[in-house]
Amino acid sequence: MEKWPLGVFASIDAGLGVYLDVVQELGVPTIQLHAPSAAQRTSENAASFAKRVRELGITVTAVFGGFEGESYADIPTTARTVGLVPLETRASRLREMREIADFARLLEVEVVGLHVGFVPHDRESEAYRQVVEVTAELCRHCQGNHQALHLETGQETGEALLLFIEDVGQENLFINFDPANMILYGSGEPISTLKLVGKYVLSVHCKDATWAQRRGEEWGAEVPLGEGDVGIENYLATLNELGYTGPLTVEREIPQDRERQKAEIGHAIRLLSELKAKFGA
Ligand code: MG
Repeated sequence: MEKWPLGVFASIDAGLGVYLDVVQELGVPTIQLHAPSAAQRTSENAASFAKRVRELGITVTAVFGGFEGESYADIPTTARTVGLVPLETRASRLREMREIADFARLLEVEVVGLHVGFVPHDRESEAYRQVVEVTAELCRHCQGNHQALHLETGQETGEALLLFIEDVGQENLFINFDPANMILYGSGEPISTLKLVGKYVLSVHCKDATWAQRRGEEWGAEVPLGEGDVGIENYLATLNELGYTGPLTVEREIPQDRERQKAEIGHAIRLLSELKAKFGA
């Protein structure tokens, strides 16, 4: 694949992400797919979806898992409800992530992504050890499918994320770097964090945000690409220095409105195309 193919975060059924027809209309060659709901994850649906994207000339570069009951309403709610961290749902969500990985395999997709949740900070605690273990278990399942697992950034500082990956100790565990999430969660300056964790970054989101007044206590604001505090040109320069050649996947947290998607995603794709040319990609 060429360096830095453009991409968008897309979905099949109702959920997060851009509609496939919008992706096609914008001429975007790759997508990361938000995993469809359990009822939709049949082998028949996988086959028909794989055929559809093939016909559209779109490559699926990753499948992202998400779970019922997750809420990003505010930071404490996110900590309580997201990912494999909440204990009540951990076993059922691990099962579901395995199914999502198997669905991704049917699509011949070699990357599975997720927000693991707010990893406990005390590395000596039983709670931390358990989150390390469940992540390792999911990695081993993905390994059996010849897949890598990419952790979405945001909830952890770069330092904590590095230690966590090393503690999990699985060769197929990497990072999907989202610079805006570092700002939204107030977990660290995105560019210096990217430099710190760069050796594990194998996929990225192109997303922008402005800092909250009280960082880490309230959400920053997600804004159109190029209008926030990430510094998109500097972001791409840093990816370039790190030797990153993977897809640049636009993620925009806007309602599933086709006209708005076309306008806003179109704007982001044009901005990235101009910047790509600057970096000889
Ligand atoms: Mg993201």
